Amino acid sequence: MSEITYLTRKGECPPTAVHFDDNGKPYCAIDIACPLCGGTGRTSWTPDPICIACDGEGGSGRAERIPLYTPDEIQRLEAALAKKRARQEAARARSLQTLEENHGAILEAARAIRNASPYADRILDTIERTAALSPAQAASLERAVAEHRDPGPSQHLGAIGERIAITAVVTKVAPLKPRFRSKGRPTAPACAVTLTTDDGHQLVAFTATPCSPRDRFTISGTVKTHKTWKGKRQTIVTRAKLTPEV
Ligand SMILES: [Zn+2]
Repeated sequence: MSEITYLTRKGECPPTAVHFDDNGKPYCAIDIACPLCGGTGRTSWTPDPICIACDGEGGSGRAERIPLYTPDEIQRLEAALAKKRARQEAARARSLQTLEENHGAILEAARAIRNASPYADRILDTIERTAALSPAQAASLERAVAEHRDPGPSQHLGAIGERIAITAVVTKVAPLKPRFRSKGRPTAPACAVTLTTDDGHQLVAFTATPCSPRDRFTISGTVKTHKTWKGKRQTIVTRAKLTPEV
């Protein structure tokens, strides 16, 4: 018996002794650590530092069974896996080919604006990764291409670093994810606000000022950057102050 070598699926030596289950299949067992203390046997957050779940032993009382294989079996498994991957790769290549045949025009148009449009680039990335194109993705690409051809009336305002003050209406309010907020500072920006001037120029500001769509403000602040988002030119304003228009 001892001449036969058993290895883990990764081809490594078993970390613990080899056992055999009722069907004669080899395995080794690794003790699972106590889930409460993580195997240390101690808890720092209770008055009594001895872990109550494992009584300080650090184990969960359960073991994970790791199946073992002979080198021959591992070779066969690897060969089967390589075949499966080759089949999947071939299927993917066929799907991509079909995509090009059915949606060649929009894919080509989207690729042409790929460098200028992060939005189109992201969708193309997904399409190329999944080798599939949903109707929603096709519509998004069509829109990205159309908006790129006609960015609409919005122009970039001011020069970078310049202070501006302009009247605009809130068109979109997006709450910031908590991790982008500064803890314990009530004046820290809580949302990203998109505002549109009467001439159709878009501004984006991060603010703690409560606001909702259709609110009219005088926005003053410093021009931070000029961006293009989904084909629309936007002026990003930093240290923005929003004063309600009456
Ligand atoms: Zn424990």
